[in-house]
Amino acid sequence: MRPTLSWTPTEDLPPGTTDLEPVVSVVRAGRVVVLSGAGISTESGIPDYRGEGGSLSRHTPMTYQDFTGGAPARRRYWARSHLGWRTFGRARPNAGHRAVAAFGRAGLLTGVITQNVDGLHQAAGSDGVVDLHGSLDRVVCLGCGDVSARRELARRLEEANPGFDPVPAAMNPDGDADLTDEQVAGFHVVPCVVCGGVLKPDVVFFGETVPAARVERCRELVREAASVLVLGSSLTVMSGLRFVRQAAEAGTPVVIVNRDPTRGDKLAAARVALPLGKALTTVAERLGVPVD
Ligand SMILES: [Zn+2]
Repeated sequence: MRPTLSWTPTEDLPPGTTDLEPVVSVVRAGRVVVLSGAGISTESGIPDYRGEGGSLSRHTPMTYQDFTGGAPARRRYWARSHLGWRTFGRARPNAGHRAVAAFGRAGLLTGVITQNVDGLHQAAGSDGVVDLHGSLDRVVCLGCGDVSARRELARRLEEANPGFDPVPAAMNPDGDADLTDEQVAGFHVVPCVVCGGVLKPDVVFFGETVPAARVERCRELVREAASVLVLGSSLTVMSGLRFVRQAAEAGTPVVIVNRDPTRGDKLAAARVALPLGKALTTVAERLGVPVD
């Protein structure tokens, strides 16, 4: 489940460090599974709900219950998401994504689990990425299960909504733009081309469960790994935190790179509080791993 709760540290947590050695050490040893969150994509211009300038305070993400609850909620979602897609379409992988891809090419990773829906790990060239919360570039029909390309839906929505070009108040990390009710009112949603059913982005909404087979694939990656490297996640939601718990219970070291304290800090060998792009580039340099 992805609850809509935010997490604030209320207990004494071990302090973060700016020493990269714990990261260098686990990556050098290899068989690392990366668990990434919104923080790795902020340098690509995709905002983080909870980080600096984060939008959680003014933006409540759409829940599965809202989305399936009625046509007005879906109109609001698709109007906002349609605008947001233009931003996502422009986003490019940053130095952090490129370093992760380079570690993969160097044979140092067993896999990448990402909580992001932006596809930027794959765009940087990473193989074997598990999109824990799905991917915004796919659309699924709630009626017949047909999976189609978001690009095609974007084209159909453009056609159905000529001249739709409101100025959003803000952008959010799930590809959602803040629009007023007035800006949303005239937006036309399009149905599934196969059965006429309701289309939903192929992402796990808050209040929705991650498919069991996907969770099991991640558990397997964590079991096979010599270490877990958390990149840019506060581990607020259980869908990511459970893998850190699994590793900790198995005695597998966890190293976190995140500017702010995280819900996994007590389970980790270290939390490195440095910006990701620079930190991972430095790790690659120290290991002599070439980054594209
Ligand atoms: Zn359908």
